[in-house]
Amino acid sequence: MPIVFKNKAKVKKSILLGLLVSTTSFLFAQARIDDIINAKEVERIEKLLSSDDMRGRRTFTPDIDKAATFIAGEFKTIGLKTWDNSEGYRQEFAMVRPKFISAAASFDGTAIDQKNIVVVTCQPELKIDQKSGYEIAYIKTGANLFSEAQKFLRANKNYLVLVDTSFLSNFSRLSGLKRSIFKTDKNAVFVLGNAAPTKFEIEAKHEITEQSLANVVGVLPGKSKKNEYVIFSGHYDHLGVTTRPVNGDSIYNGANDDAAGTTAVIMLAKYFKALGNNERTIVFAAFTAEEIGGYGSQFFSRQFDPGKVVAMFNIEMIGTDSKWGKNSAYITGYEKTDMGSILQKNLEGTGFTFYPDPYPDQNLFYRSDNATLARLGVPAHTISTAKMDGEPNYHKLTDEISTLDMDNMAMIIKSVALSSRTIVAGKEAPARVKMEDLRSF
Ligand SMILES: [Zn+2]
Repeated sequence: MPIVFKNKAKVKKSILLGLLVSTTSFLFAQARIDDIINAKEVERIEKLLSSDDMRGRRTFTPDIDKAATFIAGEFKTIGLKTWDNSEGYRQEFAMVRPKFISAAASFDGTAIDQKNIVVVTCQPELKIDQKSGYEIAYIKTGANLFSEAQKFLRANKNYLVLVDTSFLSNFSRLSGLKRSIFKTDKNAVFVLGNAAPTKFEIEAKHEITEQSLANVVGVLPGKSKKNEYVIFSGHYDHLGVTTRPVNGDSIYNGANDDAAGTTAVIMLAKYFKALGNNERTIVFAAFTAEEIGGYGSQFFSRQFDPGKVVAMFNIEMIGTDSKWGKNSAYITGYEKTDMGSILQKNLEGTGFTFYPDPYPDQNLFYRSDNATLARLGVPAHTISTAKMDGEPNYHKLTDEISTLDMDNMAMIIKSVALSSRTIVAGKEAPARVKMEDLRSF
């Protein structure tokens, strides 16, 4: 018996040791999360991003470049990898604004009125005919003119699109599609008419202005599931400077919108890098141009095969208390996947609650940077605390750091980190968004 006893003792000891090890590493992890994600660090990053020095981080200004440089510097210090082995963290792309000069067309020898032609192009002079290899497409009566037209632009192919004459009164509004387009060598020519020509000639002249912009993207490669992506994101652009100061203040600091989300992204990167155990690849993204049309997240989203993106946590305005008070936030599109319930399960016992979006009539799910990937089926949600029925400083000059609650922000960021752990660890994957249930553009 003594031998057995001895053996038992040994077993017990090793179990005990195992328990001790796991308890200490749990405690260690707990201690470390507070070391990394805390109010002081939130304040440090928030202060810089929302400082007057950044002048409201407006897209297409040198001011937003300052913010990009700061974020890239943080990613570098943390030790993130770059996306796709690119040289730096800046994910640069160009937007083009073609200003209309003239257009002319003839279909089977009959001239078309200039007002019935809209050419979306990045080329100053475009001249095409039936031999140019353009695919002929139609927007039929009863269709949603703008969402159909946008589909042709997104397809990134050369199109001659015949727009049914029932759209006569709206046709000219298609030129709005030229307000900002991603730089491309493909063209979409819209002509009001029902019958496709056998022979055609189309010419268009535009004055082309090209502007460059950049997301800031860093990566933590997964240990085993490298090709499965978990994205944490927020937008770092805001509204810039106004020419009509109020009380001597002219800078839209955007401390909450969305320096707060960007701060969260930086701190989550630091946390997951320190943990060093993510099985899936984590991508950290600070988006540009959210306030002027979501171009940054659209460009970013196109770099992925959506089937490989397991989840997207977009973080937008978490600097103030939610309508339920502290230790809570809401998730847009909560009912569209089971991601919210996975997150909530991982937070059991913490006292923190993720609620469904209480402002469904504001269509927040469709309005933020999660929307592009969500439309492709990705469980992509926005996490926020903003009281959209009355956030006092929303899009105002008064959206300053002094109006934010640093402690609560740190708590929210910690909760996002903890809530995502089974997803980051490759153990769980939220259900996909059912694309057919989404409303069109
Ligand atoms: Zn905004």
